Amino acid sequence: MSEKKLLRKPIEATKQLNSLMREYFYRMDRIAKGEQEGKIAWCTSVGPAELLASFGFTIHYPENHGAMLGSTRLAQEYIPVANAIGYSPEICSYLTSDVGSYLKGETPLAKAYEGIRSVPRPDVLAYNTNQCRDVREWLEFYGREFGVPVVGINPPRGFGEVMPQHIDDVVRQIKDLIPTLEEVSGQKFDIDKFRESIRLSRECSDVWGHVLNLAQKVPAPWTFFDGCIHMGPAVCLRATQEPIDYYNVLKAELEQRVADGVAAVEGERFRIFWEGMPVWGKLRAMSEQFSELKANVVASTYCSSWIFSALDERQPFESMAQAYTEIFICRNEPTKEAYLENLVREFQIDGILFHDTKTCPNNSNARYGMPQRLEQKLGIPTLTITADLNDLRMYSEETTRTNIEAFVEQLEERK
Ligand code: SF4
Repeated sequence: MSEKKLLRKPIEATKQLNSLMREYFYRMDRIAKGEQEGKIAWCTSVGPAELLASFGFTIHYPENHGAMLGSTRLAQEYIPVANAIGYSPEICSYLTSDVGSYLKGETPLAKAYEGIRSVPRPDVLAYNTNQCRDVREWLEFYGREFGVPVVGINPPRGFGEVMPQHIDDVVRQIKDLIPTLEEVSGQKFDIDKFRESIRLSRECSDVWGHVLNLAQKVPAPWTFFDGCIHMGPAVCLRATQEPIDYYNVLKAELEQRVADGVAAVEGERFRIFWEGMPVWGKLRAMSEQFSELKANVVASTYCSSWIFSALDERQPFESMAQAYTEIFICRNEPTKEAYLENLVREFQIDGILFHDTKTCPNNSNARYGMPQRLEQKLGIPTLTITADLNDLRMYSEETTRTNIEAFVEQLEERK
């Protein structure tokens, strides 16, 4: 019955997305089992992927695994397992669900892909604390478990403009990763391979940004909920050609929708911005509710986090430092507000939904008066929902549904 109720227009390219991701997971599995040459690096989602790719590593992203645990709702079983060894229920529920699943020796990959029994064992772990401290603690846990090196970048956070001294600092930290990566990979650093990784990531970022921006059209050809599913290649396969090819297919399909005036949400009446993390275990239910209310969540800070417009192969180190230091999550409140103001105008937004994510204060922007300030500045309503990315104990279905309904009624009154 719920299959029938999806209510948003299905995307044809999803078949290709699924085979791309399948091949990615099987490739890592073959490498981990020694059936294919190569080494595995684990990397945080906005970590130094391009440098790792230049050494030939295939990259596993624990946050992607965390999102799988959330969307399959297996997180509920695993979070308490990590809590029991001292990882607090208050910290990132990606971390606790991922660590819990490791401790139980289980993974949703095993259910989805026959023959895969576990996530691939890492040869090296690389983080960037641009997003939060949790990612370092997370990878250090695995460093101890697997007895492999953990390397990382600790950039400044909470600033307005990115200053030359920030870039110098981060460039130095990126360069400091090289000796360990040379040792683990058995390859010398090659600037041309690094430039090529940067070029590929930039191209991926450009086409990903383009498809996201197609939702500026009225009616929008796709939704935030589609974006959460289709962002997989931009996160996991950047610095390779595969996501570029995939997003060009998606782009053609969505451009055709735009040309034909096809709406992802039939009868689109309200356009909403989603600020913060998705509630992975409730993506479908939320998408259905918004569609029923003729509301389309057309843009988000979350899906836009994998647009790295600063990447430039002519200045690989500096541009990589810039791209990963200027991300939204790193910035101060005025810079974040200016960024949101722009998106609200560009996507013709009627109202902003802030997700106050209990276990991710880093991605929660409703705690220091931002919704109130933006309401005043932009003259549009906001709604703050309290929930979590993975821990559904912190989510009340009834309260959230009622609040969303009341919010859309408020938007209706303003039409
Ligand atoms: S930014 Fe939030 S969700 Fe992402 S790893 Fe850090 S605490 Fe977890």
